[in-house]
Order: sequence, then C-alpha cells, then structure tokens
Amino acid sequence: MPAETLDEKLIDGAALADRVTRDVAVRVAELAERGVTPGLTVVLVGDDPASAVYVGSKERTCRELGMRGETLRLPATTTQRELLEIVDRLNSDASVHGILVQMPLPKQIDADAVVRRIRPDKDVDGFHPVNVGKLSIGEKDGFAPCTPAGVLYMLQTYGVQTSGADCVVIGRSNIVGKPMAALMIQPGVDATVTMCHSRTRDLGEHTRRADILIVAAGRPQMVTADMVKPGAVVIDVGMNRIPDATKKSGTRLVGDVAFESVRDVASLITPVPGGVGKMTIAMLMANTVRAAEQLSRQRGAAA
Ligand code: NAP
Repeated sequence: MPAETLDEKLIDGAALADRVTRDVAVRVAELAERGVTPGLTVVLVGDDPASAVYVGSKERTCRELGMRGETLRLPATTTQRELLEIVDRLNSDASVHGILVQMPLPKQIDADAVVRRIRPDKDVDGFHPVNVGKLSIGEKDGFAPCTPAGVLYMLQTYGVQTSGADCVVIGRSNIVGKPMAALMIQPGVDATVTMCHSRTRDLGEHTRRADILIVAAGRPQMVTADMVKPGAVVIDVGMNRIPDATKKSGTRLVGDVAFESVRDVASLITPVPGGVGKMTIAMLMANTVRAAEQLSRQRGAAA
C-alpha cells in the first residue's frame, strides 16, 4: 500500500477510502441480487452550513455506490417530539437500514434522547449506548463510530504493528477519543493505550513514549516535533480552520499536529486534509451496507 503513495511517510486517506468504498460497492451488488438496496437516511435539523456540506457528501456517496441516500431537511424550529416521531418512522421503515441524525442539533432538542431512540441495529454512527457497550465488550455485530474505525483500518492496512505497541490517544470525546481507545485495546489489536485530555499532567511525557500517537483534541497544531518519538506513527484526527490571508476564503484547514515538522520525526503520518477525514464517510458506507446485510438476514430468518 505505501508504495502507491508519492511520499512513503504519508498515509493516503483518499486511496484507503477508495479501497473501502470499492468493497462496499461489491457488497451492494450482492445485496441487489437478493432484491435489497441498502438505504441510509440522514436527518438534518436547521441550516448549519458545515452540517449541510457533510450531509450533502454522505448522500452523494451513497448514490455513487448504488445505495439509497436520502436526507430529511427539517427546520431549525423542529421540536423534540417531532424529531422523535420521525426517528420512530425511520426505525420501522424496512427500506431504511441506516439512520444518522446530524449533530449539532438546535438547543431545544436533547441530542442524547434522540440518539437513544434510534434502533441500535440501524445506528450506523455507532453512538447508541447499546453499540457503545458492544464495542466495549467486543461484540462484533454492533457498529463502531466511523472516525475511529477509519483510523484502525488505516493502521491495519498500512501494516502498523499494533500488538504490544504503546498507543497514546489525545482526546476523550464519545465520538473519537473513547471509541478509539476501545478499538485499540480490543483483543487482536492489542495495543497498550494511554488516554490524555485537558487535565493530563505533562502531555509530552506521555506522547514521547507513543509508538502510535492519535490526536483528536481540536487544537490547531498542538502536537509539535519535540513531543513525538522518532519513528512513531502519527494519526491526526483534528480539523481546525485557522486564518490565512493568502486563501480566498481567508482560512485554511489544519490538523492538531504541526505537520511540517512532525513529518520529519514520524515514520508514518496522516495529512490534513487528505487523511482521516476521507475515511469517515467511507466507514459510514461500510456500516450502512453491513446494517443492510444484517437486517435482511434477520428478515430472511423470520420469514
Ligand atoms: P471534543 O469533543 O471537543 O473533544 C476534544 C478532546 O480533546 C477533549 O477530551 C479534551 O479534553 C481534549 N483536549 C482539548 N485540549 C487539550 C489539550 N490542550 N491537551 C490535551 N487534551 C486536550 O472534540 P472531538 O469531537 O473529539 O473532535 C476532536 C477533533 O477531531 C476536532 O478537531 C474535530 O473537528 C475533529 N474530528 C474530525 C473528524 C474527521 O472525520 N476527521 C471526525 C470527528 C472529529 P477534556 O475532555 O478534558 O475537555
């Protein structure tokens, strides 16, 4: 895999995402032979511009792969009750295999209550407590959140030795940091994981021990070369917009890692953009096709 990339230190997120979606397309074709079209419904409440962009690319990717991608666009004034009713309808709609409610939600809506209402076997984001629990105890029929699942896929595809490796994760969010740690310690992956957060004393002392450093803090370029062990694998999940007068938009996207200096120290590194971000949608597609496979098997068994 690395031989395909121009710079052998760079992990090519776009190439990996293509690989995942090619596999998804094959599975979509197999399901089509059995009369099943995998369907993902994304619910977007309000008009947050960043969310609109994410949702648009999810819908487009579904369609490119022969899946049914639908977006329900609801006004910012939608009530919690209305949203829960929509989730209930999607839960019982047999043509819908994956449900994703785009975050953030307007403040009148309790996001946790909405996530809990989604059927766990359609929760392709992997945020329902049942799926969090399945990830924690190693039940394979649950769904792991897409971004950390994409990071693990990257490490495994690039042949990174995870067994016994010291892995440091910066960030403990439910979306990235915690599920990332859960994936890295699972049997078969077998890393020794340290989790760091804003209260960690002497962050550099931890990061300098890491064979694999995964950064998801949302702090532009906070990891500098002196914090990285020579030869470490560095995965940058961060996506931050910083001012840049040379750009038409006035901003540019950077990660949580000071890429230019850290790439000299690391043995492998993800760029931003073009690294982890590309994987997230691909893993969402993989989760959706698996939801369709599992649900159609259950329906076949029940018939
Ligand atoms: P989050 O919910 O804000 O969590 C950030 C975590 O980083 C928190 O646990 C926080 O600690 C920790 N942290 C913040 N500053 C720190 C510091 N100086 N030292 C050590 N730890 C620190 O963010 P998130 O949702 O996990 O996202 C993290 C980043 O990943 C963001 O840039 C986001 O845009 C990006 N992201 C990218 C993708 C993708 O597809 N590429 C997907 C999701 C997120 P405390 O818990 O103590 O506050």
